[in-house]
Amino acid sequence: MTHRAPGRSSATGSDGPEIVELPPSPTVSRPAVEHARPARPRFGEGALIVCDNLVRIYKVADLEVVALQGLDLLVGEGEMIAIVGASGSGKSTLLGIIGGLDLPSAGRATVAGHDLTQMGRRERTFYRRRVVGILWQQTARNLLSYLTAVENIELPMVLDRRADRRRRALELLDLVGLADRAGHRPERLSGGEQQRVAIAVALANQPAVILADEPTGELDSTTSGETFALLRQVNAELATTVVIVTHDPLVSEQVQRTVAIRDGRTSSETLRRTEFADDGNHQVIAEEFAVLDRAGRLQLPRSHVEALHLQNRVRLRLEEDHVGVWPDRRDTEAGR
Ligand code: ADP
Ligand code: MG
Repeated sequence: MTHRAPGRSSATGSDGPEIVELPPSPTVSRPAVEHARPARPRFGEGALIVCDNLVRIYKVADLEVVALQGLDLLVGEGEMIAIVGASGSGKSTLLGIIGGLDLPSAGRATVAGHDLTQMGRRERTFYRRRVVGILWQQTARNLLSYLTAVENIELPMVLDRRADRRRRALELLDLVGLADRAGHRPERLSGGEQQRVAIAVALANQPAVILADEPTGELDSTTSGETFALLRQVNAELATTVVIVTHDPLVSEQVQRTVAIRDGRTSSETLRRTEFADDGNHQVIAEEFAVLDRAGRLQLPRSHVEALHLQNRVRLRLEEDHVGVWPDRRDTEAGR
């Protein structure tokens, strides 16, 4: 015989399949569940970056590490977003795939019309040189130590045989505020200056997207603020899409959208907008959303799960304009 929750059993026959009534709700009328679905656009249509159910499994000896487990992410053209998440949550793995340096084990990724899982060698080379620019945390990884600042910026253009590369490199140095450092090698530049030069290198071939993996991780807070301000300027003035992985709340709180990754999936998004009052004062309103994937899955915040001791099973109830989530009291009552 099936087990019933006391006081909540349904009126169906005693041995039939169990139907447990949901907790009483203040809403009286039930919404119509069956309604015609409007035709949906294809997932990610119109977005510059589309990550569709990305899975990345690393095999180390006999072990499998699932770094991404069905991650969805859309980034619009001209957006600047921050990606946050605990160490090991899959942020760098994601950037490596978007940057064309790594391939997902499953799923699809498209950037500016390039299908990253289908690219041949030539398209991949083109993609890495022309479509994305990458900025790493380790300043030393971004620049060649034996080249001067201006030569470092010219390098991606040498590979592309651009004739006006010196002129453009000097313009970019000017843009990042280092016109007077053209002849300096990285060792004669401060950490912040090296990151500025690295931003100029990343911009050399006018990429559609700049990917930055904790670019301010090795900098003090003032310098990190300046580096971030420069990325914002690049985003605003050149309309380059910027995806920045960061631990720094000063950074993540200043972009319009912050995407949080947990256990290899996007778990929540915080959207910010500025509201202006009549007296000219303004305030930034931040709102956090859980991310619902296309299969209907969402991750509840850990704090919610713990506050109500949710585990294993929850009850869901569809209301007129929301869905309620209740703990499965039978579990708690049984001490499970
Ligand atoms: P994050 O950048 O958020 O710290 P990563 O993407 O670097 O996270 O790593 C996600 C998970 O994948 C971690 O468990 C990490 O140990 C593992 N991982 C990352 N790179 C490799 C690799 N090359 N080989 C094996 N495991 C890896
Ligand atoms: Mg990382």
